[in-house]
Amino acid sequence: MNVLVIGGGVVGVTTAYYLSQKGLNVTVLEAQEKDVDFGATGGNAGLLAPSDAFAWASPSALKLATKSLLNSQLGIQYKLHMDPALWRWTASFLSQCRSSKWVQNSDFKFRLAQYSIDMLADLRLTTNINFDVSDQGIAYASRNPSDLKKLRSHFNFLEDRGLKLELLDRDGLHEKLPLLQPNSETYAGAVFSPNCKTGDSAKFSIELGKWCVENSKCRLEWGASVEKFLQKNNKISRVLTSKGEFKADAYVLAAGAHSSILAKQLDIKLPIYPIKGFSITAPLINTESKPMSGFDDTDKLVALSIFGDRLRISSSAVFDGFNTSHQSQDFQRILNLAKEILPDAANYSAAKYWAGLRPMTPSSLPILGPSPIQNLYLNVGHGNLGWTMACGTGKIVADLIVNKKTEVDINPFLLKV
Ligand SMILES: Cc1cc2nc3c(=O)[nH]c(=O)nc-3n(C[C@H](O)[C@H](O)[C@H](O)COP(=O)(O)OP(=O)(O)OC[C@H]3O[C@@H](n4cnc5c(N)ncnc54)[C@H](O)[C@@H]3O)c2cc1C
Repeated sequence: MNVLVIGGGVVGVTTAYYLSQKGLNVTVLEAQEKDVDFGATGGNAGLLAPSDAFAWASPSALKLATKSLLNSQLGIQYKLHMDPALWRWTASFLSQCRSSKWVQNSDFKFRLAQYSIDMLADLRLTTNINFDVSDQGIAYASRNPSDLKKLRSHFNFLEDRGLKLELLDRDGLHEKLPLLQPNSETYAGAVFSPNCKTGDSAKFSIELGKWCVENSKCRLEWGASVEKFLQKNNKISRVLTSKGEFKADAYVLAAGAHSSILAKQLDIKLPIYPIKGFSITAPLINTESKPMSGFDDTDKLVALSIFGDRLRISSSAVFDGFNTSHQSQDFQRILNLAKEILPDAANYSAAKYWAGLRPMTPSSLPILGPSPIQNLYLNVGHGNLGWTMACGTGKIVADLIVNKKTEVDINPFLLKV
């Protein structure tokens, strides 16, 4: 069986890995040229974090939206456009903000994220690829003791579902992230999730792609942007790309935020809106530092990871369509935090600046599996947690394509038509 995977971000490449492990012939079509930053995979915060599985649509989302209108320092911006897709998405998001929906969505998302972390562990054993992973956990820090107490009880939801957690005082936090300015009193402490990880999803995708090409019947076509689908009898017969025509028995759509544009050609409406975020990546000054945990400043909504000799810091949620442009002021919040808590850790003047789009659904759940087109499968809409969920969703979609029972209940993730 021949399968074409559309999109060579972390979701497309992991899907190709699981398909090729089943002995299928797989070709990945990626619009970008080789080694150019691709999609949201290129510069995300790097957290492999079931601890971030809380659905964004919640009763408190409205409070946060109002707060962000009054305080631009939170980095959440809703740019009013004459864009019916944004209005539809917003209406659907608001319908998910009920407490019962939040519980349901967060529960499904957490189980999928946990499954994915288990799948990643197996993948690491099989491939032994290097993606600057750190198994040192993630610390969610708070600046004052009463917020820390609230944060701890917020995490009870995930702890009740099996997430291991510890409460760290200020010294405990500094031990986990020795890069923090010594003797600083910025944080009261942190909720620490020891089993979470960090790693570079772009390096992972490149290395896994190479591994698949060398070890299985897998091809990667860089610079092949899918432009048109040709159909016959409710099946895709061929795709036309910037690099010519490709055909297969089955197709997987894994084009991140752009999936909704491609699906529209097939009359499939995907409820995915692109939500822009920013990151900087700066070389560490002391490259001999100890292994360190990931970190999230829960007051400023800024996350960071250490990838070997690089520091990645990321933040912001901007509703501004498919626009990935950025200006120096977009990174000011990130740089301010970096210089506040890690002033001597990295060479910020050599930082690389990046913006990317989270492929966000109103429920925060990805859309997986069959589509109204018989031989088209979906692996889309991973939102703020696609790096974490990539291995699990790749495995699920590969199982569905070969008619194997999935290890996770697929129902919550099916496209509702
Ligand atoms: C600022 C920010 C921080 C984030 N932090 C985290 C985090 O800490 N942890 C986490 O788990 N997740 C995080 N995410 C989310 C995560 O990055 C995404 O969910 C994930 O990268 C989605 O992967 P994807 O492969 O579906 O999409 P993408 O990474 O966007 O890849 C899609 C690929 O499809 C290609 N493509 C598009 N159109 C076509 C076409 N027509 N033909 C061929 N190819 C095409 C694109 O070039 C791209 O390479 C973050 C996202 C952002 C923006």
